[in-house]
Amino acid sequence: MSFSTIVGQTEIKERLGHALTGSPGHAYIFTGPKGIGRTRLARAFAAALLCERPGCDGACGRCPSCRYMAGGVHPDYRELELQEKEKVIPVDAVRQRIGADLYHQPQLGARKVYLVDADALNEQGQNALLKSLEEPPPYAIFLLTALSARHLLPTIVSRAVVLMLSRLSPAEVMAVMEANDLHQHEAAAFFARFSGGVPGVALELAQSSWFHDLRQETIRFFVKLPESGRAFLLTDGYAFFEANRVHAGEILDVLGSLLRDLIVLSDRSADDMLINNDQQLALKRLLPSGKKPESLRNNLTQAYRAVLAARRGLALNASFEGLACHLMLALRKELTYA
Ligand SMILES: [Zn+2]
Repeated sequence: MSFSTIVGQTEIKERLGHALTGSPGHAYIFTGPKGIGRTRLARAFAAALLCERPGCDGACGRCPSCRYMAGGVHPDYRELELQEKEKVIPVDAVRQRIGADLYHQPQLGARKVYLVDADALNEQGQNALLKSLEEPPPYAIFLLTALSARHLLPTIVSRAVVLMLSRLSPAEVMAVMEANDLHQHEAAAFFARFSGGVPGVALELAQSSWFHDLRQETIRFFVKLPESGRAFLLTDGYAFFEANRVHAGEILDVLGSLLRDLIVLSDRSADDMLINNDQQLALKRLLPSGKKPESLRNNLTQAYRAVLAARRGLALNASFEGLACHLMLALRKELTYA
């Protein structure tokens, strides 16, 4: 797989291309949110490192090494990732699949490449990996994927080149959707904007059976908020959150996107940059006339902050009922622009 088949990440691809024509380092960490394409890029780099005739654009795609990679059977390439039902990669797996394998010479070419899902390593696993990273044989190259270098032991990070993947533009996310035959989806443009520049999110939601209905329900709930009574919110409103608890993160993302659009609309009468472009009329009805834009923006920003706070609470496993009810009341207060 050549680098040019990967959408975006131009700077990183250039850096990797230079490394291929010079002498690459022993460890690279690809960081960024889940779904941004860390593993895909790391695999393309791995293929190029192992390729017999790599160029600035990565692997040639035709040599025996490239054919082994494409078939998933390259003898000098290992991937260490979570297996089904595992929460972390067991430390024994790190020792066996990397530590014990490391000193066997490469079979096909001059290098061995290990790709490790570092988010799935606990401290013990990271320490086991560190042993291999400290004194690697000259032919070994480690590629790690992680949400952030901050999640890893500083002793690992200091031995590696850290590459931060950037979020894609909506047009680039659309290009990824096209490559996956999803650009014809009726909501493709919405997913490209809603994904926050993370193509994996757009692909997953476009193929999900539940997101369309959940979004519609969340919008109905949102537009009714200003006139909903406190008692209604704490019963029926909460029931909506409770029934969709497994997708609470997505509900919050939809609410955040609606508030973001309201902030945009509070400044301008129309905008084709809205995430929820199909909801423009309903959203405009939520903006009272005769209020100063600054005052509207102030309320909407507070509402947006309440969504962010709920997002953090969710990540920290705070009481679900507490955070949902607190959020609904905060949104109602701000959306009445009192
Ligand atoms: Zn090749």
